[in-house]
Amino acid sequence: MLKGSRTLTKQPSVKRLPQNFSYHTHTNATGIRGFDACDHPDPGYDGVNSIRELIRQAKALGWTHMGISNHFIVHPDIRPHLCFFNDFKKAETVFKSTVETIRTAAEEEDFPVLAGFEVDYFRDPKWEKWFERFVPTLGADYLIGSTHVWGKDETGPLFFDGRNNAKAYPVEDVRANMGLYFERQKAMIRTGYFDFLAHMDVQRRYGVEDGTLFQDEKKAVIEEIKKANMPVEINTSGFGTKLEEPHPSIWILEELKKAKIPVVLSDDAHYANSLGAGFEKAEVLLERIRYPYRFNLFRKCVAKGRIHGSDGKTNDID
Ligand SMILES: [Zn+2]
Ligand SMILES: [Zn+2]
Repeated sequence: MLKGSRTLTKQPSVKRLPQNFSYHTHTNATGIRGFDACDHPDPGYDGVNSIRELIRQAKALGWTHMGISNHFIVHPDIRPHLCFFNDFKKAETVFKSTVETIRTAAEEEDFPVLAGFEVDYFRDPKWEKWFERFVPTLGADYLIGSTHVWGKDETGPLFFDGRNNAKAYPVEDVRANMGLYFERQKAMIRTGYFDFLAHMDVQRRYGVEDGTLFQDEKKAVIEEIKKANMPVEINTSGFGTKLEEPHPSIWILEELKKAKIPVVLSDDAHYANSLGAGFEKAEVLLERIRYPYRFNLFRKCVAKGRIHGSDGKTNDID
């Protein structure tokens, strides 16, 4: 073909369907009837619907598979709170039961469901030792690396757990201690324990910052993500708040794109009818910023023989 005579053929624009699965979802029960997770009469995880209600909603949406990932927040010094565990043994019993309950529900509903957890990582040798011993016995399919708690003293009075403490401490105090949040994220990424990283700038949600602060710290976290090639979630629950943006922010997403980090959409659904909420907006955003790197845990689990009963077809691309 002569130079300059190339005919420009119009490429059909590929309209991406919203991702048709989510791995970050919450349910309402620990899997142990009558079990009181926190020694008060309010047991259970912080989701509103049951495992079965989530699965049925996923089926109604035409999803190919899903993951259920209740909180895994355990530390001997942690302040009592719904689904925060002080007692390692108690947590072990509850988490194992949760996995079993998910397996049973998935089988009875004949739907491929991965059993996971949203784990709060603690930089504590005692915690790590316990975690490394316990996780191989848990039988979970995946673990999400998460941070909801941080502060001057992570188990003391300035223990910040987002929604509950956002109003309890002056924002300046929380900002002054944000370094611990980023240090914990970096340490968490370096462990290699986790399949992907949850809501990496969750502090924006609580008014700690507007997305313009801590850019050097965020870049240092992205550097660790890059070294570990760790997938990152785009948590669409941010669209439902006044942020009208997901976690992480568009600025972080642009940085992640430069580092070629795969992303996965997460609705972080605490209600069955929140499954897939914000996914269309997220797809529009990803198309606008031309983000090509996507992550699908399902194929990894099929390859490892962890899940059966589906042809694995999804709207996802690698
Ligand atoms: Zn979370
Ligand atoms: Zn969550």
